[in-house]
Amino acid sequence: MKPSSKYFSQIKLFDNGSNRYSLPSDYEPVRPDFLDINHIYLAKGSISTPERKRFVERVCSLYPDVTITECLETPHNRINLNVTGELNLHQAGKKSLVFGELGNAVRFSEEKGNTCPNYWHFSPYGFCPYGCKYCYLAGTQGVKLSPTVKIFINLPEILAQVNDIANQFNKPTAFFLGKLQDALALDPLTAYSSKLIPFFAMHPIARMTLLTKSTNIDHLVRINHNGHTIFSWSVNPPEVCDIFEENVPSTEDRLQAMYRVAAAGYRVRGMLMPLIPIDGWEHIYSRFIEHLLTAVPLERLTIGGICIYSAARKIMEHKMELHNAISVNVESKTRQQGDGRVRYTEALRVNMYSLIIKTVRKIKPDLGLALCMEDQHIWLKLGLEDNIGRCNCVL
Ligand code: SF4
Repeated sequence: MKPSSKYFSQIKLFDNGSNRYSLPSDYEPVRPDFLDINHIYLAKGSISTPERKRFVERVCSLYPDVTITECLETPHNRINLNVTGELNLHQAGKKSLVFGELGNAVRFSEEKGNTCPNYWHFSPYGFCPYGCKYCYLAGTQGVKLSPTVKIFINLPEILAQVNDIANQFNKPTAFFLGKLQDALALDPLTAYSSKLIPFFAMHPIARMTLLTKSTNIDHLVRINHNGHTIFSWSVNPPEVCDIFEENVPSTEDRLQAMYRVAAAGYRVRGMLMPLIPIDGWEHIYSRFIEHLLTAVPLERLTIGGICIYSAARKIMEHKMELHNAISVNVESKTRQQGDGRVRYTEALRVNMYSLIIKTVRKIKPDLGLALCMEDQHIWLKLGLEDNIGRCNCVL
């Protein structure tokens, strides 16, 4: 895909008025690739101030043929799409863009039953326009009931919350963007990165880590980030993406975006998850790792298998044949692990991780390697125990 053209010219972080932070205004919104909508909903709070109204109107003006419904008393997650059935709801959600506000947008994660360190994360967006069939987010309670693509308009308040929380700490602390959304997929519409990156660049404590599959990076290379923003891209070999991802930037385009962002001095990480044991996976993943490590100067690579709630698995199996390389390799539904997600058998996970670790060590012996959502004894088995807690979403 062609990266979007430049869509803002100047960074303006602070307003002189009573509000310290503001929505982006000095940019030209652009329709992002891969966002294919037929309905825009203006939910509660979306146009409650002149600043918000101006912002929303500019985005809506890009979609003259799309139905726009004002439901100003309805919270963003209570929009009725008037469809029945899980798959229909999921598909209608991907075609619906909602503007709303999110009160509790900065949260501390609550991972249990695996080694993931808990961390701060924040949500200026909800869910994502891409079409990964394995999407774990699709099966989480909030998204299952409200699978629309959301832009939360209260970015200034979110930044103020991050600031308040960060100021309670005395050492650099990461705030992760990408847990409940894609971090950059909607950036051509919002230019939120033009506020976020300078905010973190100037902050003494807060740092931003973010995860994306987007290639909307043209403008990022011109922002002074001060080393306080760390990008990570979710990648998989093209052979895997061809089967399990649709309506997503190609792997090669993602690698190019990673290279360009790294060339602009950002720290760049890779997230190779979920590994999927398609036919010939050994050769496919070895070759891909070689390509990835040659093409991009990664500072860290985090790997993981499938980690999926049963609702997400059901949606995946509606979208593709039941006999797919994930479904046939996960443990039976009754054998869920401590965090309630379904995974591949331990033997398969160790087998896949070992091959990738071996390949990485041959090419870049010093590259930081981590596992995502894994049990402690798997880290020990693979000799990675010293890296526990040095994974994708944290510093
Ligand atoms: S990019 Fe992430 S959130 Fe979006 S569909 Fe793919 S897996 Fe789901």
